[in-house]
Amino acid sequence: MARKRAPHRVKQQVKQELTPTSNTLDGERRNGLVISRFGANLDVEDESGEVYRCTSRRKHGAIVCGDRVVWTLTHDNHGVIIEREERQTFLARPDDVGREKAIAANIDQLIIVGTVKALNEEGYRFHDNLIDRYFVAAENLGITPVLIINKIDLLSDNEGERLQQDTTCYEEAGYRVLHTSTKLAHGLEPLREQLSQHTSIFVGESGVGKSSIIRHLLPEKEIRVGEVSASSGKGKHTTTAAMLYHLKDGGDLIDSPGVREFGLSQVETKSLAACFKEFRDYIGLCKFHNCTHQSEPKCAVKEAVASKKIHQRRYDNYISIMGSDEMKAI
Ligand code: GDP
Ligand code: ZN
Repeated sequence: MARKRAPHRVKQQVKQELTPTSNTLDGERRNGLVISRFGANLDVEDESGEVYRCTSRRKHGAIVCGDRVVWTLTHDNHGVIIEREERQTFLARPDDVGREKAIAANIDQLIIVGTVKALNEEGYRFHDNLIDRYFVAAENLGITPVLIINKIDLLSDNEGERLQQDTTCYEEAGYRVLHTSTKLAHGLEPLREQLSQHTSIFVGESGVGKSSIIRHLLPEKEIRVGEVSASSGKGKHTTTAAMLYHLKDGGDLIDSPGVREFGLSQVETKSLAACFKEFRDYIGLCKFHNCTHQSEPKCAVKEAVASKKIHQRRYDNYISIMGSDEMKAI
């Protein structure tokens, strides 16, 4: 869970000139939060908000942004990570040889950004199949999903009403849905509130407006990176480096351009239905205990779809994901 922090503090600067208290290992165990990682260097924030550049011994495995660590100060005011605390959650993606590689840790909120697009004579549409894949990924990882539909400035009044109807299936399932426009600065305040008290990460297709939204939330971000790199060369990160930011209204945001478009990791066939929150009330009521809710008789999920207790579109997406490559048949 997100730690309680002093309000209005956006402290990200790497401390370069520490008081010369010690020239040797002081051995004191300090708690810290990894706020950025690039190559072998990790920036670790201590409990008072100071940031120290640390290295980690290989035996601790990959340490990523959002990890909580125990570290100690070394001779030249750098730090060495001694331990990694257990993660509540982590996002991973497969590396070149298919091994799972953690990218960010301890996230408790996945902000799924979609948009209205392909405006044509039929009006807008949004890519609900992909959105439902992100919902499944979040549920499968134990992270609360929140849906943002951005660019609502592109909609006529009628289309706006239709969008409202089209997203009620998520609200009725118990998910938070926000409609935003960075052009009109609409919906961004409720989003800030939603982010406070959480550690969140944004995901969604390229072009939906994630960077634009993040720029509204973190107006200092670009200035900060420019400043640090101009003075010391530090703070220059590759575009895929993840960074953790404290938001001024509370809450943390982990931003990683590489993760923003992360795909659905493998989900076990038998777990998929439970990743659709509104299916959970029915799953145990099917005739067959191992019902996959596809063609089995007396399936409570299908009955709930027929009686409109479950939205048809969500069920269709369930069937589509079930037949896709991401499913692991166990
Ligand atoms: P990302 O790839 O998801 O990070 O998307 P970007 O933030 O780079 O935005 C993609 C394009 O959408 C840019 O041209 C933005 O100016 C535009 N855009 C972002 N937000 C909005 C919005 O609320 N309304 C409209 N009309 N365009 C937007
Ligand atoms: Zn069933």
